[in-house]
Amino acid sequence: MVGSGPAGFYAASALLTSDLPVEVDLLERLPTPWGLVRLGVAPDHPNIKAVSRAFEKTAAQPGFRFFGNVEVGRDVTHDELRRLYDAVVYSVGAQTDRQLGIPGEELPGSWAATEFVAWYNGHPDFQELEFDLSHERAVVIGNGNVALDVARMLALTPEELAPTDTTDAAIAAINEAGIREILVVGRRGPVQAAWTPVEVGELGELGGADIVVDPAQLELDAASTAELEAAPPTVKRNVEHLREYATRTPTGKPRQIVLRFLASPVAILGDGKVEAIELVRNELVDGRAVATDERETIPCGIVFRSVGYRGVGLPGVPFDERAGTIPNEGGRVAPGLYAAGWIKRGPSGVIGTNKKDATETVGLLLEDARAGKLPSRGDGTLESLLAERGTEAVMYGGWEAIDRAEKAAGEPHGRPRIKLCSWDALLAAARDR
Ligand code: FAD
Ligand code: NAP
Repeated sequence: MVGSGPAGFYAASALLTSDLPVEVDLLERLPTPWGLVRLGVAPDHPNIKAVSRAFEKTAAQPGFRFFGNVEVGRDVTHDELRRLYDAVVYSVGAQTDRQLGIPGEELPGSWAATEFVAWYNGHPDFQELEFDLSHERAVVIGNGNVALDVARMLALTPEELAPTDTTDAAIAAINEAGIREILVVGRRGPVQAAWTPVEVGELGELGGADIVVDPAQLELDAASTAELEAAPPTVKRNVEHLREYATRTPTGKPRQIVLRFLASPVAILGDGKVEAIELVRNELVDGRAVATDERETIPCGIVFRSVGYRGVGLPGVPFDERAGTIPNEGGRVAPGLYAAGWIKRGPSGVIGTNKKDATETVGLLLEDARAGKLPSRGDGTLESLLAERGTEAVMYGGWEAIDRAEKAAGEPHGRPRIKLCSWDALLAAARDR
């Protein structure tokens, strides 16, 4: 198994609870497990992060081993894994962001949500980034739950941030931010937004930010009205929240989250850094956003592009560049080679979605095993190969040492943990077992 996010752990669990005698080595490039549960899920949602307790139970099963700090493509190759194991399952997630493809996207101050999320969550590869939050207006592009995470995190008060495991650097930057308005821009309408009701509902309960929705933004065309009538209850609840927000008058909280629909960015403008964003008004045609010729320029100092994550290919592993996934059928790439989670189906779905997804993949793996279709493996072990290369794997006990150190640091401050967020600090804590 390669990648220790939800897909990797759900796949490991399905294998270890099958009726075949299976051993699972779970390889992870970081010294820490749980993927986006640790480094994506918003720090003010600790209950969601608690799903890791289920993964801990899997890790405690006989036959399971964790190899952190082992990256496929860096420390071990795909071909080597194929020789060492009867079967390889890739569950490496979606490691980068989708691009807008508009002028100015690369200007300083234009960030991918992936970067901001990884930074405030303490991902060791993203701690050098410096987000200038001194500007009055921040713009978030996209109408998914990640866009709402980013908007909400920017709006949290010191009291709301204090009991979380947001990094200290991010807490300080958000507390000191000059941001007064967070403008969230969706290319389609309120009925088509990808977010979910709990997350939309939270926007109305923030201590330090008013939610602002212009009633005119919620006027639906005939097709959207019909779509709403036939829509699942979640979409109806989203729209109910928005309609209630449209009746509110701002109460003078220090920040505002403003929701804007049917607008797409056409350019990010500025002389050497972001100074404004140019939006075009859209109309819906057969459910798609089609640009009109109405444009407007909105001053802003920082832009977060939250239009989805994207899978990255691994050397030697089949990859569909357009879809950003490993081509597969139900998770089977070929007998002995499988995919699960976001790298299998693309970057959508909540944590639980990966359970069904990984179980499907493992079902095919077991079917191939029973049919004698798995290729025979060669000699050698991963441990001896890593030892030859001088790669210092972080085994599960090493992660537990990191976990203990982080929790001990957080406890006196009433925080679940204070994350170690440099490679050196993580590896040093792992050694201190
Ligand atoms: P990931 O969780 O990304 O795990 C992939 C793992 O593979 C990572 O640990 C990575 O380091 C590792 N890896 C990558 N490349 C290699 C390599 N070459 N070698 C070894 N290891 C490698 N869902 C919810 O239900 N609730 C939420 O609140 C929620 N919040 C979210 C917030 C954000 C910002 C995002 C992006 C998603 C959120 N989700 C949430 C969705 C959920 O996180 C995903 O559905 C889930 O994490 C996908 O699981 P995965 O295992 O496919 O990928
Ligand atoms: P997402 O749900 O796919 O949303 C992406 C958003 O970007 C959509 O609104 C999409 O609009 C928009 N978009 C795409 N291309 C665009 C473009 N060129 N211009 C303008 N807008 C564009 O992705 P996500 O927000 O990254 O979330 C990923 C997954 O994680 C989702 O399944 C999400 O539910 C889950 N997640 C869950 C939680 C939670 O449960 N609390 C939190 C975070 C993430 P269109 O619809 O028009 O394409």
